Amino acid sequence: MTRVSPVRTDSPVRRPTRSVRVGHVVIGSDAPVVVQAMTSTDTADVGATVAQIAELFRAGSELVRVTVNNEASAQAVPHIRERLAAQGIDVPLVGDFHYNGHALLAKEPECAASLDKFRINPGNVGAGARRDAQFAEIIELACKHGKPVRIGVNWGSLDSSVLARVMDENAARAAPLPANAVMREALVRSALESAAQAESLGLAGDRIILSAKVSSVQDLIAAYRELARRCDYPLHLGLTEAGMGSKGIVASTAALAVLLQEGIGDTIRVSLTPEPGGSRSQEVVVAQEILQTMGLRAFVPMVTACPGCGRTSGTVFQELAAHIQRHVRDRMPQWRTEYDGVENMALAVMGCVVNGPGESRHANVGISLPGSGEAPAAPVFVDGQKTVTLRGGNIAAEFAALVDDYVASHYARKPV
Ligand code: SF4
Repeated sequence: MTRVSPVRTDSPVRRPTRSVRVGHVVIGSDAPVVVQAMTSTDTADVGATVAQIAELFRAGSELVRVTVNNEASAQAVPHIRERLAAQGIDVPLVGDFHYNGHALLAKEPECAASLDKFRINPGNVGAGARRDAQFAEIIELACKHGKPVRIGVNWGSLDSSVLARVMDENAARAAPLPANAVMREALVRSALESAAQAESLGLAGDRIILSAKVSSVQDLIAAYRELARRCDYPLHLGLTEAGMGSKGIVASTAALAVLLQEGIGDTIRVSLTPEPGGSRSQEVVVAQEILQTMGLRAFVPMVTACPGCGRTSGTVFQELAAHIQRHVRDRMPQWRTEYDGVENMALAVMGCVVNGPGESRHANVGISLPGSGEAPAAPVFVDGQKTVTLRGGNIAAEFAALVDDYVASHYARKPV
């Protein structure tokens, strides 16, 4: 039986880019698309920030960005780095600077040294005549500390001088472009001109990552296509202010999937607004699932589950699907350290005999629960072969144990 690997050999060809090293992580060129996230804590609160970075890291975030907006937060960064190291967490940290980044980085050199990348927004570097001088100060500090920089343009804070120039050019055209096309051109121009300016100040081209975020799916796709056409810097993709719940997930997925399918995008962040009390790490899970369901990377065993229908008997089916999904997510941090390739495992939880046995045979471990009217028995399939039939009220725990056995017996142990 041939099963489809989560990492497909017919994945889209990535657009060629330079590669940028951020700490121990490589972004761009032929490196895998990197998942990143951002904290929502007050960075000056070292304990809360370390806890959230650890949560994001354990969920699988490969870079974590923190706000650095005042002296207290800049002074906290080296302590955050130390505490993470004490917990054995080695995740590159990115400092997010607006308005006063030049001053904070100059005044707090330990903060600059502790970060692995600076993120700046050309629209928020400084107003009027101060803009170029403050931009130059940040770039010179990045050069001095040997740090890469993401030049992250955002339509909510677009450099007004670039926008004015592009609007003037548009007004002089025989057939002026619509307002959203003008805005996109200004976004792209701001990113590219700032990158050229940074290179002219001495920052190497392989220390620059670009982003141009908007909150509309179609504008994001169009802006990134244009950016990709006009430069070979690695691109950070993300739909800004994607929103809450299913809207945020769907909008981010719609935008990112189109671009990733065209080979555009070297690192992604999904900007979800968590529900009150919700976990910040949901944005990491969604980013991973976008990449994994597209066959671009594998992070955690995927559970195929049917939607259920009138043939599904009771709620056992949903409960088992949820149980096994939680089980693999909970086990994955340990499995990842112990077993090679376990993230490629495919599981199936199906609701009845119609598609249950067939879909279960395509998984590494699959179970076909009895639909209404069927005998109360749940055949389990391992690598396409029926191995055992589960019955009774303990099916969830027994199926999870079979999955654990499969991992232990089918994936090579990593050297300790
Ligand atoms: S596998 Fe069975 S229960 Fe699941 S959706 Fe199909 S027909 Fe319905």
